[in-house]
Amino acid sequence: MQSFPRRKCKQIKVRNVEIGGTSPISIQSMCTTDTKDIEATLEQIRTLAVAGCQIVRVAVPNAESANALSSIVKESLIPVIADIHFDWRLAIKAIEAGIDGLRLNPGNIGKKERVQEVVAAAKERMLPIRIGVNAGSLEKEFAEKYPDNIPLAMVESGLSHIRILEDLNYDQIKISLKASDVQTMIQAYRLMADKCDYPLHLGVTEAGPVGSGSIKSAIGIGTLLAEGLGDTLRVSLTGDPVREIELAKQILRSLGIRKDGLNLISCPTCGRIATKNFEEWVLKVERELDKLNLPLTVAVMGCAVNGPGESAHADIGVSFGGIGPDGVPVGILVKNGEIYKRLPESELIPALIEEATILAKAKNLIKA
Ligand code: SF4
Repeated sequence: MQSFPRRKCKQIKVRNVEIGGTSPISIQSMCTTDTKDIEATLEQIRTLAVAGCQIVRVAVPNAESANALSSIVKESLIPVIADIHFDWRLAIKAIEAGIDGLRLNPGNIGKKERVQEVVAAAKERMLPIRIGVNAGSLEKEFAEKYPDNIPLAMVESGLSHIRILEDLNYDQIKISLKASDVQTMIQAYRLMADKCDYPLHLGVTEAGPVGSGSIKSAIGIGTLLAEGLGDTLRVSLTGDPVREIELAKQILRSLGIRKDGLNLISCPTCGRIATKNFEEWVLKVERELDKLNLPLTVAVMGCAVNGPGESAHADIGVSFGGIGPDGVPVGILVKNGEIYKRLPESELIPALIEEATILAKAKNLIKA
C-alpha cells in the first residue's frame, strides 16, 4: 500500500494522548449526554472508550455543566475536552475542574483581560486549546472580506485566533476548519497546512445521519489524510457517537494508517454467485472476527472466478463454488496463499472463523 508523507507539525499532549509530530492519528468524539448528568456522561464516555475513542469532548453551556466536570474528569478513562463557546468564566471553571483541554476561540471571548486570564490559567497547566472555525458560523468580518472564497475566509479567521494566543506567548494549539460542505473543508485545511505548524483536527461538521454522513466524512477526512494532513479527527454523525468511532477506525484502516483491525474483502456478487446465503455469510464473518479485533486480512468470495486469487492474497479466505463428489455444493478455504481445505458450503464459514482465530493466536495477536 502506498504511504503518504505526513505534514510536519508541532506536537502537543492532551493528558496522555500526543497529537501531532509523529504520534499516531487519534480518534475523538463528543458526548451527546447533558454534561450535568454525571452518571450518564461517564457511562457514555466508558462506552466510547471501549469502542476506541481516545479523546472525548463534552458541552459546557452553563455553570451546572462546568460544576460536573471535576467528577467527570476524575473518573474518565480518556482525556476530556470542555467545549466552551463565549463565556470565559466557564473556561476558567473548566480549567479549575481539571479538564484536559479546551475547545475555545479566543477571539470570541471579548475583552483582552478575559482572554489573558483564560490563557494564563491554561498555560499554568499546559492545557491545549483547540481553535475551531466552522464555515456556518464564520465571523462577519471574514465572510464579507472573502464572499467568494469561504475556505480562505475560514483560514483568515483561524489565523486571527492563533495570533491572539501567540501574542500571549501560548502555543499549545490545535486547529480545526470544519464545514458541512466537503470541498470547502478540504480546501480550508489544505490552505491552513501551509500557513501554520500546529496540529490539525480534521472533521466534516454536521455531516448528517450515518449513511450520507459516513460518505461525506470518509471523503473529506480521507482525502486530507491521504495527502498527509491531519493529526487527530472526529467524524460527526447524527446518532450514537459509537458509530463515529467505528467509522473513524475504518477510515484510518482503509488508508493503511491503522493496522489493528479486520480488513474484510468480500465480493459484490454477480450472476456467477455460487451460494444463496452470501451476504449472511459475509455479515457473520464481520460480526465474529471484528469483535476479536484481529489485524487480519480476510477474504470471502462468491465464486471460483476471482475467489481463489483474492483469497490467496489475504491471510485467510474462502471461495464458494464447485460441487463435491456427493453432489453437495463446496468451496475452498485458503490459508497463507495455499488451498488448505475443500469443504461443504455449510462448513466453510465456521471453518474460516475457527482458522482465523487459530492464525491470530499463532501470530500472537490474541492470547491463547
Ligand atoms: S467473485 Fe464471482 S460472484 Fe463474486 S463478483 Fe466476482 S465473479 Fe461475481
